[in-house]
Amino acid sequence: MEKTTESKNDSPYPATILGHIDTLPALRHQRRKFSTESDKGVCDYPRMSRNNIKFALFAIFPAMSQYHIISGLDKWLEFVSQPQNHLTHVKNIEDFEKVGKNDNIGAILHTEGAGGFDSEFMLLRLAAKLGMRTMGITWANPNQFGTGFLFKGDQMDRGLTSEGRALVHEAQRLGITVDVSHLNDLSFSDVMEITEKPIMASHSNSRSISNMGRNLTDEQIQTIQANHGVIGLNFGHMFLDPAINAANLDKANKDLSFEVIKLHIDQIVIEADINTVSFGTDFDGTTLPTCVDSCDKLTQFYDFLMEHGYSRQDLQKMTYDNFYRVFKATWI
Ligand SMILES: [Zn+2]
Repeated sequence: MEKTTESKNDSPYPATILGHIDTLPALRHQRRKFSTESDKGVCDYPRMSRNNIKFALFAIFPAMSQYHIISGLDKWLEFVSQPQNHLTHVKNIEDFEKVGKNDNIGAILHTEGAGGFDSEFMLLRLAAKLGMRTMGITWANPNQFGTGFLFKGDQMDRGLTSEGRALVHEAQRLGITVDVSHLNDLSFSDVMEITEKPIMASHSNSRSISNMGRNLTDEQIQTIQANHGVIGLNFGHMFLDPAINAANLDKANKDLSFEVIKLHIDQIVIEADINTVSFGTDFDGTTLPTCVDSCDKLTQFYDFLMEHGYSRQDLQKMTYDNFYRVFKATWI
């Protein structure tokens, strides 16, 4: 049994870790403040706090150039240090406990893609020292380290490069959790072949439910379970819709039900187990179906799951324990 963080408040919901949110770029684009409830976007302190969303992985995106990474780190340090944002920069496992005892939200730094890191990993080591704890290898685009799933056109016949293999080793040595979301199938296989630690797919779904290549095959889901890794479900309509396929990605339906999200959970539980599934969401970074387009609806979804076969203990694993286990196994 992993140690878990109980909320200090009276929330009926377990503390939640969101595995992937794009709130940092959304705050800039939508000209809103994290400290103030907005009618734009999904995540800010008031909306997360009242739903007991206690932790989130905030992505630096894009992260394709050295400039993106350096300016992203600079903005991040400013973001987490502003008292009105009520954030605690989570840099190690002990910080989870601290956040559990106060009203802050635990903010975990993530880079969505590693294209901006140099091949000698100097910037990676600096980012790790500044508290970067999780890293995706690519976004959809290929880079010097690996190959992402392309949303359009033919897929590339390429996986990780030799530099990419070295990146995985160096990141894991530094205590950074490696994220396989966005990788194409060849890159995924390459990572799983060489990883020495559990990995996460921070925002990915089941391909046998929603047939698009950004989602995970049943075999990939089984591989992640064998690795003791975790899959954070993506709430983007394109990744959930059972009617989607490679030819109609732009026609995903926004009018989806909780039942559809549950189908993806059920499939991961069938192919792996309840210890493998959690919530990435992709809040503020994707088009959401109306059933789950706010933090308030996320917690309504928790009620739905508990009314449809999942126990409170299952929910605790999905909302918190599974991501926490992977962080504990990978952070130093
Ligand atoms: Zn993404």
